[in-house]
Order: sequence, then C-alpha cells, then structure tokens
Amino acid sequence: MGYKEALEDMVWQFAYRDTKGNKPVLHTGGLSALEGAFEVLGWEDPKVIEDTDGVICDVKNCPEWVTNQGMGWRNTGYWCLCSGHHEQSRSGKPKSQMKQRAMKRENSRNENGCLPVK
Ligand SMILES: [Zn+2]
Repeated sequence: MGYKEALEDMVWQFAYRDTKGNKPVLHTGGLSALEGAFEVLGWEDPKVIEDTDGVICDVKNCPEWVTNQGMGWRNTGYWCLCSGHHEQSRSGKPKSQMKQRAMKRENSRNENGCLPVK
C-alpha cells in the first residue's frame, strides 16, 4: 500500500459522515488534519460519495450511511440499513422498497446464504 491509499483509508475511517443535498458525503468538520488530507487527495470538502453496497443504506432513495447490517427485516434478506430504517424495522414497520443493487446482491446468494466470490 502506498501513501495515497493509506491516507484514503485514514480519511474513510476518520472523516465525518453526513448527507448534503440528499447525497452521502464525507467532510472534514473543519479539523485541520483532515483538511490537509483532503487537500493532498484532491478531494472537495464535502466529498460526495457514490451509492455503494455496504456503505450507503439499501432502502430506495435513502442517502444515509449504513449503521446496521443484517438485522433489519432479516427474514427477507441481509440488508444494510441506516439508523432510521433500522429503527423502522425494529418498530415493526413493513419492509421498505430496496435499491436495485441491494436486491441484485441478495438474489445472488447461494443456498448457504453466501455471496458469489468476486
Ligand atoms: Zn436508510
């Protein structure tokens, strides 16, 4: 791993996770060490994050960060949910409509519940 990859890992771990304009973002929160890292990486502050499996909530149109994996609506799949949607499942609300990428992932599990090796 090079410096750039290491710095990206650090930023992914320590930068603030939020949403802005209905998109997930990472931002520095005004912390100078993070501002320096964003600058070196050439990232905007905030940086818009792609809708990614296991990172952003599986519920359709939800831009929130995943805080819970596999607990919500668990009889229907291993869903990666934000805190709000996890709370909805805990309080017995019917399952929300999921994003295409999430349904495709869940439909690709084998009889043992494993995802295909990439
Ligand atoms: Zn959500």
